[in-house]
Amino acid sequence: MTKEELMRKAIELSNENVANGGGPFGAVIAKDGEIIATGVNRVTASCDPTAHAEVSAIRAAAAKLGTFNLSGYEIYTSCEPCPMCLGAIYWARLDKMYYGNNKTDAKNIGFDDSFIYDELELKPEDRKLPSEVLLHDEAIKAFEAWMEKEDKIEY
Ligand SMILES: [Zn+2]
Repeated sequence: MTKEELMRKAIELSNENVANGGGPFGAVIAKDGEIIATGVNRVTASCDPTAHAEVSAIRAAAAKLGTFNLSGYEIYTSCEPCPMCLGAIYWARLDKMYYGNNKTDAKNIGFDDSFIYDELELKPEDRKLPSEVLLHDEAIKAFEAWMEKEDKIEY
């Protein structure tokens, strides 16, 4: 499949998902023009606020391939990812991302991902989410154990 055909598949998934009661988002993970996995937004159906199309596609691809590292693969998403999904795309080590709609298009229909992008620009104390450091001395012990562990699987 060409990159346009792969994006059309992501768009088709987003359309189907609206008809199925989900959000208007679809994603495809592919390599050499071949689809490995797909995902749609299942936030309301699954009662899972993290079940965005891109995260769903990454989970499906990783499970299918039996690896947490999706380098060599590309993601086609019907909309520019929110910060959570963008982070997931980086963590998955995907090679390239294509997107159809952008975050302003999403904002215009009530999915305000740009709000989180704006929050990321702020210092923690200036964000809308109150947050504070707690028990740092105790929490750091797991990091020390990690550093000392010799047979760890790095990711
Ligand atoms: Zn997302």
